[in-house]
Amino acid sequence: MKKRCIKCGDVKFIDEFHIHESSKDGLAPLCKKCTKEYNKEYWAKNKDKFKERGKEYRAKNKDKLKEYRAKNKDKFKEYRAKNKDKLKEYRAKNKDKFKEHRAKNKDKFKEYKKEGTVKLSNVYVKGMLRTSGIKKHQITPELIELKKQQILLYREIKNIKGDIKNGTT
Ligand SMILES: [Zn+2]
Repeated sequence: MKKRCIKCGDVKFIDEFHIHESSKDGLAPLCKKCTKEYNKEYWAKNKDKFKERGKEYRAKNKDKLKEYRAKNKDKFKEYRAKNKDKLKEYRAKNKDKFKEHRAKNKDKFKEYKKEGTVKLSNVYVKGMLRTSGIKKHQITPELIELKKQQILLYREIKNIKGDIKNGTT
């Protein structure tokens, strides 16, 4: 059985068409190739809109996503453990791509890191703990909180010292 694609006009075998349950013949009006192209174009045209919407969604549902991640933490962990080799392979395969991405977004990463330092993001605090010789599995949320307090205190002291040196106190 064959069917004509309404976009390219080619008559093709029906396995060249996606299944569309709601249509009369149960097949998509566009062949698979045209559908792919159409989707690509559609995405390119609306990329910014989609991205903006994704951003909005994430901002709006920040707490929900956080909760979701917290709830599924073990699942993620399990997934990572199960697919360790696969992930490793993936990283090795895409090493140059990652490098390029980092080089391209250097300023963004720098800015991000700076922000993390100022705001004491968990990633930053974890990094501080790791550099002071604490093992990854020893790091708990309580420890991160404690370290944060310590850093804040340290910064406060530094500020006071700076003020004294500058003669403003
Ligand atoms: Zn077609």
